[in-house]
Amino acid sequence: MAQRKPMVAGNWKMNGSLELVSELAEVITKIDTSDVDILVFPPFPLVKSALDAGLKAGAQTVSENNAGAFTGEVDAQLIHALGANYTLVGHSERRAIYGESNETVAAKFAKAQENNLTPILCVGESEQEREQELTEQVVWQQIDAIISKLGVDALANSVIAYEPVWAIGTGKTASPEQAQAVHKFIRSKLAELNSELAAKIQLLYGGSVNENNSEQLFAQPDIDGGLIGGASLKANSFATICNSAK
Ligand code: PEP
Repeated sequence: MAQRKPMVAGNWKMNGSLELVSELAEVITKIDTSDVDILVFPPFPLVKSALDAGLKAGAQTVSENNAGAFTGEVDAQLIHALGANYTLVGHSERRAIYGESNETVAAKFAKAQENNLTPILCVGESEQEREQELTEQVVWQQIDAIISKLGVDALANSVIAYEPVWAIGTGKTASPEQAQAVHKFIRSKLAELNSELAAKIQLLYGGSVNENNSEQLFAQPDIDGGLIGGASLKANSFATICNSAK
């Protein structure tokens, strides 16, 4: 853990307001970030406001295309030009609701990196897949889609968030042991390909993390922080979670 700085990232999904940006900035900008990276992922129209308010902000998704005739999409170059340095890719809601395949996610990952955005690759199994003991297979397929397209070294400039789909927004958190087991699996599979990269990459856990369970989850040796949905919309809860990652 010593060689990896913890990270706590708040995914606002399609929530939030200018008021929330101010409320959160007021509390979060007071936290010493020498020992924790703190990021927020608001809806697109609020990214610039969050950056201007002193928060580190990124995008919840990014187009796999360059700027052009793609109504409703937002390109990586513009996101970076606004001052953002990160984007989520492959969040399970994007995969499930908008049909993003592993290949599409890999294309978005590549486009983010081409434009100096660090992708946070979200991976995770459904409840059914866990019951069928397919967790490792599913998670590795999602990661391997990036490796097949770009090579393992592309992951050096990225973050991976393990988010079991059954734990997202459900209040059902993976136990620290369950989460650690998958994180350990990911790190050891990566170590087979590039041990230095595996030791350095930040692996986040996401899925109903709150101020009561974050400390135990983040204390696991292969968990380097969290991707937080619901609890990132309350300034004090989010601050407690950020501090618990230190
Ligand atoms: C998420 O949206 O990535 C997430 C983990 O949500 P929640 O914390 O609400 O489960």
